[in-house]
Amino acid sequence: METKRTRPQAMEYFISWKEITQRVDKLDKSKKYYGVPRGGQYISAMLNPVDTIEECDIIIDDLIDSGTTRENYSKYKKPFIGLFDKINEEDIKNKWLVFPWELKEEAVEDNFCRILQYLGEDPTREGLKETPKRYIKFMKEFLAPKEFNFTCFDAEGTDEMIVQTNIPFYSLCEHHIAPFFGVANIAYIPNGKIVGLSKLARTLDLYANRLQNQERITTQIAERLQKELNPLGVAVTLKAQHLCMNMRGVKKHNTWTTTSKMLGIFKEDNKARNEFFNIINGTK
Ligand code: ZN
Repeated sequence: METKRTRPQAMEYFISWKEITQRVDKLDKSKKYYGVPRGGQYISAMLNPVDTIEECDIIIDDLIDSGTTRENYSKYKKPFIGLFDKINEEDIKNKWLVFPWELKEEAVEDNFCRILQYLGEDPTREGLKETPKRYIKFMKEFLAPKEFNFTCFDAEGTDEMIVQTNIPFYSLCEHHIAPFFGVANIAYIPNGKIVGLSKLARTLDLYANRLQNQERITTQIAERLQKELNPLGVAVTLKAQHLCMNMRGVKKHNTWTTTSKMLGIFKEDNKARNEFFNIINGTK
């Protein structure tokens, strides 16, 4: 399953504070407003905000998009308005509206600055000044491995195990966003089709360069090869050190976690499985 962020096709329209205040000025400030989290709260704060729906005269949101939010609030039987209303305003109907408080790159960097401050750091000191920008860039690059063509070749009559050992990988544990890294061993027994050797390493990167856990990477690689090559069997093992374990608690330095996934003949046949383990353990 590939997770890709899809950007809306519609044209982006960046709303300015000036536009927002002009619209806010036209609203009745003698009324009490409840702002729908989160965007509506910026609007209510500029008016006459109250903390609960019960206290308010009007529920306000930054944008009425499809009307589902308004629908959700209909049970309170209070007037619901949006500062911008896609349903009724022709000129914004097909635009992708971006409010000043929404996540632009700088806003993400600001959030990261706040985390540094929270951790007792001074984000303005020399070494940290550019860190939020660098960190976001680094993470975005790491988490976007390139998809590639899984080009297969006919290989009638090849039914010997193909093994690639000690392929290095780097990943980030999804619980702590701490690195875990190590090596993978990948084997398959062809059933009329083989794939270029570099593609095994690229398949590994494709699944490792995400927020992950080791077991899932192992399974995803095996299942991808099974799907693409329909081989007689697939065997994958990953051996890794997890910094979230090594750096805290018991601080065991040389602890390795091994995971494996066997499909087809490697699962059913001891002989095939043993041959694989003999090869990767260097005894053959
Ligand atoms: Zn962890």
